[in-house]
Amino acid sequence: MKEENGRSRHEAVCPSKKNKLDLAAARARIAETKGPEFWRSLEELAGSAEFKEMMHREFPKGASDWLDSVSRRGFLQLMGASLAMAGMTACTKQPLEPIVPYVRQPEEVVPGRPMFYASAFTLGGYATPILVESHLFRPTKIEGNDKHMASLGGTDVFTQASILGLYDPDRSQTNTKLGEVQTWGNFVGAVRGPLNSQKAVQGAGIRILTRTISSPSFADQFRQLPKLYPQAKWHIYEPINRDNVYAGAQMAFGQPVETQYRLENADVIVSLDADFLYAGFPGMTRYARDFAKRRDPDSDMSRLYVVESTPSSTGAKADHRLPMRASEIESFTRALAEAIGVPANVGMLSGEQGKYASAVAKELQAHRGKSVIIVGDHQGPAVHALVHVMNQALGNVGQTVFYTDPINANAVNQTDSLRELVADMRAGKVDMLFILGGNPAYDAPADIDFADALKNTNIPFRVHLGLYQDETAELCQWHISETHYLEAWGDARAYDGRVTIQQPLIAPLYNSKSAYELMALLAGQAEATGHEIVQGYWKIQYPGADFDRFWRKSLHDGWVEGTTFPPKQVAATMGNLPAAASAGQDIEINFRRDPSIYDGRFSNNGWLQELPKPMTKVTWDNPVLIAPKMAERLGLQTEDTIRLELNGKAVTGPVWIQAGHPDNAVTVYLGYGRRRAGRVGTGAGFDFYRLRYSATPWFTTGLKIEKAGGTYLLASTQGYQTMETQDGDTRPLVRAATLEEYRKEPDSFNEDQPAPNFSLYPGYAEQYQKEPYEWGMAIDLNACVGCNNCIIACQSENNIPVVGKEQCNRGRHMHWLRVDVYYQGDRDNPKAYFEPVPCMQCENAPCELVCPVGATVHSTEGLNDMVYNRCVGTRYCSNNCPYKVRRFNFLLFQDWVTPQFKMMRNPDVTVRSRGVMEKCTYCIQRISEHRIDAERENRKIQDLELQTACQQSCPANAIIFGNKNDSNSKVAKLKAKSRNYGLLQDLNTRPRTTYLAEIRNPNPELES
Ligand code: SF4
Repeated sequence: MKEENGRSRHEAVCPSKKNKLDLAAARARIAETKGPEFWRSLEELAGSAEFKEMMHREFPKGASDWLDSVSRRGFLQLMGASLAMAGMTACTKQPLEPIVPYVRQPEEVVPGRPMFYASAFTLGGYATPILVESHLFRPTKIEGNDKHMASLGGTDVFTQASILGLYDPDRSQTNTKLGEVQTWGNFVGAVRGPLNSQKAVQGAGIRILTRTISSPSFADQFRQLPKLYPQAKWHIYEPINRDNVYAGAQMAFGQPVETQYRLENADVIVSLDADFLYAGFPGMTRYARDFAKRRDPDSDMSRLYVVESTPSSTGAKADHRLPMRASEIESFTRALAEAIGVPANVGMLSGEQGKYASAVAKELQAHRGKSVIIVGDHQGPAVHALVHVMNQALGNVGQTVFYTDPINANAVNQTDSLRELVADMRAGKVDMLFILGGNPAYDAPADIDFADALKNTNIPFRVHLGLYQDETAELCQWHISETHYLEAWGDARAYDGRVTIQQPLIAPLYNSKSAYELMALLAGQAEATGHEIVQGYWKIQYPGADFDRFWRKSLHDGWVEGTTFPPKQVAATMGNLPAAASAGQDIEINFRRDPSIYDGRFSNNGWLQELPKPMTKVTWDNPVLIAPKMAERLGLQTEDTIRLELNGKAVTGPVWIQAGHPDNAVTVYLGYGRRRAGRVGTGAGFDFYRLRYSATPWFTTGLKIEKAGGTYLLASTQGYQTMETQDGDTRPLVRAATLEEYRKEPDSFNEDQPAPNFSLYPGYAEQYQKEPYEWGMAIDLNACVGCNNCIIACQSENNIPVVGKEQCNRGRHMHWLRVDVYYQGDRDNPKAYFEPVPCMQCENAPCELVCPVGATVHSTEGLNDMVYNRCVGTRYCSNNCPYKVRRFNFLLFQDWVTPQFKMMRNPDVTVRSRGVMEKCTYCIQRISEHRIDAERENRKIQDLELQTACQQSCPANAIIFGNKNDSNSKVAKLKAKSRNYGLLQDLNTRPRTTYLAEIRNPNPELES
């Protein structure tokens, strides 16, 4: 690290990143605290001088400097992705087959009027039902399908960001053989001979490897294959799989089943290491909505208990959170089972865990049929089985818990399936290997070592179908460019089993092929299109003259009627429960899917890379999370590099001290350290798959840690855009109370509110009463689950650029909306609060007064508008904004060159250049569109007809936007609640965006 005046470069940039975190000071400060105190980082809690210094600064020190040569090169490399496809034309065309719009199709396409098409985004086999916004046949934005019960209009971060994946210029654009460009015809010619040879041996040498498949038509293709090749085998593997879930169901019910929850019916929810409120958990969008519905303190509020091994969004929402090593959760579950009368062969726990378990058990028993226990995918089969029995014993089955058939068309144990494939490869039994999606050369368990098997077994015909020329493509002779899901026909099941037909929104950008088409080729139908295959399957399911009507309706609605799985009647027994595994006292390592890039498949997605992770706010990296106590014991500071050794293999990575992490354990996120991700993702972070073994895919003990020497720069946004003051006093930014306190003093959140007419310009506020609209927003902190979806939705809607790790570290990230996380109390188990912060659209906006050129002005409807053309970049407005919601384009962050990105952008939003201040506009383009429509129809804009992008995407319905002038509008009603407060309202800025205070519902037994 280059030294600057004796200080390392990154210390100079951000003092909060200095390796001077005094954990003892942080602990002492908590001990001194009498009332509620909120903090965003351990540095802030410790009250270090460096942190206070940062309070003075609008941007970290050095943020305005030009880049040094090294970092400049890094930035240009990121932007270099722009130049990749400079020769590509920007023409778009619709698929040749008829697709059906979600809304009534106008007589002809009207430029400027987007169309919406129902489709599905699939992850881990589970479909998220979506509506895709299309401008002149260019998909530009993803929304949830509000009519589909698995979405209700919400989405998650992976779904939102998938639009960027379509236009990624680093996507594979050609078929290759040993690196040479080939046509599809060449491939068809090349595969014919070996396939014919396989007929003689009944396909005994053919192996097909896919990720999890829920597609009925794709599964049908596999079922047809044995007619030609009876001995061909289908293997399934993806690193974030549900092996434990299905094995647990097998143990309890004798068959694999899918478990669904009805959280709206649950008074008491117990999560055993299940992050069911964050993307990646099947059904998350629906669960977040149902959970939030029951968190209204003015009605019947539920209570959430979370026992977890890694701080998560779900843990942050808990009324009582218990940090616990993952390997101890089985013992805890057994003790809980005993306490509710389910024999589990273990004595009661003692100490804090015992007290917690006993209180939870009492609550569960008091709420029979109205409680639910949810287990995380990474807990072992025994825990899943035990919980099935407990839910049954509590009478929850049929009330809050339902079972159905698995959505997975082939619910085999995926690790065993991969192991069997590798054994066959090493035994020389494989002549033709088709890898359809997936990247096992990168993400297979370290002991199975798929890459080595692929490299050293001389399989004569190896084919990789994928979106990228990745680590697996590198080891196959043939690489076939795969269509993105927005370019291809398909179908998939949502978590409730309901099938959505995946409609393509655009013809393939690169003449790619889908897995359906490759499978058809194996079945001897080289010319079959995805449309023919998928429609052909459904024609067989729905024979009859009205098929066309059925097909059009299914495409239009976004689901196939009658495909939701009915509840399954199964009885859980504990006959096969194995003896309890011992946790041991060694250091535990937890492997988790990354909250931003999942298992690594999204690592070239800049939006996701730059998305601050919910609890750490780290971007572009995957540090090793450890508890403050453990860091103290080992003498470690955040950003120290350490060597992790497990079973003789070692990986080095930086430390991140995470408040609330269980002691004697570390967490690492998977998906980083890619060698061939693309220009955005290659080289970011550390590859912890190298420590992940098939027998212990989620956690294990026996980890050795030692200091590796040196530090590694991390880019966390946690210390930036702070609204605290320099004098050490804390401001009431997050307002929270217990349910009991709220009921006693419902008006306690607004004591610092200025009098209504406290203004130099009396009467100023009243003028809005004359306007038809007075826009405002209310954000319910009780409902917000910190899923980050609003950030990506805003980025997608408003053409917000990615700036890269180096720029993030300078505080220059461009998100118009951030989700702050505040901690409160004990650093070893703090409470956490999420607070989404867009522009407050202040009535008395401090930014407007200081702009020398009138670039930021007040609209008649109360918006704080930006006139980009006028902005000369003085940044006075940003300096004067107490909320720190303005973002300045220090560099030309927007890519003006790459044709794909031109196609992706929302044409209704200006693409900003360098030297311009930008910020949230309440999606002014959406307001304008609805205003025009309403005026044309001679009516007013109806309540909730108009939604901002963040609001529309929010699965928890935490953001409500509307007309304050309409007393019947939802936003006006929320603002009238006693929980409503304005951020820094004592400054008399009169923010249009206000918050509903967070109310917790603790169990008095555990509060004492
Ligand atoms: S407000 Fe944002 S972070 Fe909170 S639940 Fe909604 S989308 Fe997620």
